Amino acid sequence: MSTKLIAFALQSVRQRIANAESQFHRPLGSVALLAVSKGKPASAVREAYKTGQTDFGESYVQEAIVKLNELSGIDDLRWHFIGRIQANKTRFIANRFDWVHSLDRLKVARRLSEQRGSTLAPLSVCLQVNLNMDSAKAGVTIEEAFEVGQRVAELPRLKLRGLMTIPEPSGDFASQRVPFRALRELFEKCNARGLALDTLSMGMSDDLEAAIAEGATIVRVGTAIFGSRDLPET
Ligand SMILES: *Cc1c(COP(=O)(O)O)cnc(C)c1O
Repeated sequence: MSTKLIAFALQSVRQRIANAESQFHRPLGSVALLAVSKGKPASAVREAYKTGQTDFGESYVQEAIVKLNELSGIDDLRWHFIGRIQANKTRFIANRFDWVHSLDRLKVARRLSEQRGSTLAPLSVCLQVNLNMDSAKAGVTIEEAFEVGQRVAELPRLKLRGLMTIPEPSGDFASQRVPFRALRELFEKCNARGLALDTLSMGMSDDLEAAIAEGATIVRVGTAIFGSRDLPET
C-alpha cells in the first residue's frame, strides 16, 4: 500500500477501536493497537511509525532479522513476536523483541529466559491458548494454561503478562465473541488463582470489535492496515 493509504488505514483502524471501546463501555484508550507488519517491507513500518504507531508484530524470525536490522536506527519501536517459535531460533527473539505473544511451551519459555540479555528489561510474554483443540493452531489447552503460566511466571528474565489466542475465523459477531469470552474467563480464573495478568491479546482485522467487547487489551491488526499478504499463515 502507498504511504497515504497506510496512514489512512491506520486512522480508520484506530477509529474502529475507539468506536468499540465506546460501544462496549471500555475506557477510551484501554485497547492498544499492535500493527502486524509480517510480509511487509521496512518502508511500510516507517510509514506507520510516522503516524505515531510504535508497536509492530512479526511472525517469522528470518524476515524479522532483516527488517529489524533495517530499522535499528529508530530506537522507540517496540517489537512483538507473534509467530510459531522454533526452539533453536529463540536467541534473536529473546534479545531483539520486547514482547512474545505466542509462547506455547515451557521449553521455549526457559530458553527465552536464559537467553534474554541481562541489560534488557524482562521479556513480556503472553501464553498462547488453543481454545479449539482440533485445529492446527499452536497453544496450551485451557486445562493446562494456569499451571504452565505459574511456571513461566517463575522464570527470572520473563514477565508473564497475559493470554493470547487465534480463534477460527467466523462471520458473525455473536459467534466471534464465543472464543474471546472463553479466553477472558480463563484470564479471570488465572488472576483469581494468583497470576497477576494484565493483558488479553485477542482480535485481528476481521474480529477486533468482538474481541474488544470481551475485554481485549491488545488487538493485532495486519491486513486492515497494510493490505493483504501473500505469505503462508502461521
Ligand atoms: C497475521 C497475524 C495477525 C494479523 O491478522 P490480520 O487478519 O491480517 O489482521 C494477528 N495475529 C497473528 C498471530 C497473526 O499471525
